[in-house]
Amino acid sequence: MQLDFLTLLATTAISLFMISASLPLIMGRNISAAARYVQASLLLQALAWAAIIASTYVPATLADRIISTISIGCGSAAQWMNYRALAGWLGPRPWPRLLLVLVAATPLGYFLGFDSYAFRVGWANVLLAAVTLLVARATLQPQRPAEAGWRRLILFSMLTMAGLTLARGIVGAFTDQYPSFRTPHPVNLAFALGACVTVILNTIAMLVAWRDEAEFKLRELAVTDPLTGLPNRRGFEERAQAMLAHARRHELPLTALMLDLDHFKQVNDLHGHEVGDHALELFARLLKDTRRNGDLAARLGGEEFCLLLHDDTSAGLPLDQRLRQRLRLAAPAELGLALDFSAGMAALRPDDTGILSLLARADAALYEAKTAGRGRLCNAAPIRS
Ligand code: GH3
Ligand code: MG
Ligand code: MG
Repeated sequence: MQLDFLTLLATTAISLFMISASLPLIMGRNISAAARYVQASLLLQALAWAAIIASTYVPATLADRIISTISIGCGSAAQWMNYRALAGWLGPRPWPRLLLVLVAATPLGYFLGFDSYAFRVGWANVLLAAVTLLVARATLQPQRPAEAGWRRLILFSMLTMAGLTLARGIVGAFTDQYPSFRTPHPVNLAFALGACVTVILNTIAMLVAWRDEAEFKLRELAVTDPLTGLPNRRGFEERAQAMLAHARRHELPLTALMLDLDHFKQVNDLHGHEVGDHALELFARLLKDTRRNGDLAARLGGEEFCLLLHDDTSAGLPLDQRLRQRLRLAAPAELGLALDFSAGMAALRPDDTGILSLLARADAALYEAKTAGRGRLCNAAPIRS
């Protein structure tokens, strides 16, 4: 079998151009920034390979210097786009500044040192290998839920290409075998084959990442209340289960507060549904500002909210008072009307079968607060000893 270097490169470039042209058609216009970075990266890679091929047809003059530098620049910029895509999907990634410096230095040093073959091949390939390694590193330790499968695929592709690029750099800079793109050197053939294969693997991985992103967004929508941005009942129950398990494992207290706006039907009836919605948003905002880190706040439905704290009921009272005070000040100013709420509080007991039995007691205490005249906090009866 005779593998020809330029044919392999041409195949890779054509694949990349075809993928770049078809992805926007498949993915549509309404895509995330991360997906756009992937599209930009693929196009830059296609240009990089096309420029390499073009450079082999021009004499070793200024034209070669410019076209080759464009190729190197497109290659390193493509990796920057990959990195940005990963940051979009996985949260902030390590060493962005270092990467940006390397991405800019790669074509710059290559252009300036073009006259020395050993220097330019060594410089460009060693730096490109470092850039590729930083992108490989960026697939690890996601800060958002992300499947391991596609990240491992990108990691594998990036490590493979980093290794092959480094090999080209070392052979070019430190031996007298010149693996120029015109020679059928084995390191060149391995490099071109690696590029051919990893382009396909990377594209698959990025498409799976894109599907992951859509799934994640749908999941978020399903557990979030659109009006207030708080978790809805479903989101609340999921997180509350986790808090309950945590409380039981570490023998921590757990307290639930049920909050219900008073005479809210009248707010709608007298001021309109829009003011009612605004009141709910205001209450949710104050609730978010008043709870502490680690407390769970949710809108369980209608004008009913819940707070769950890893604390005993003595922490619930000042929290309730702070919220009441803030609402007393903010409601007339923002809505032009007075707004108050009733609350019921209950602490987790060893005989609670789950989060629902805790909530049922907080609900009973809330009912007590309503019948006792509203605008107050009632505590569920403590455990009989
Ligand atoms: P109470 O003091 O006993 O709690 O009286 P209330 O009027 O607050 O309670 P009730 O359960 O009778 O009425 C709740 C009202 O909340 C009825 C409903 O129109 C209103 N509501 C529920 N969800 C929304 C919403 O998303 N937006 C608006 N504007 N109103 C809502
Ligand atoms: Mg109410
Ligand atoms: Mg209600």
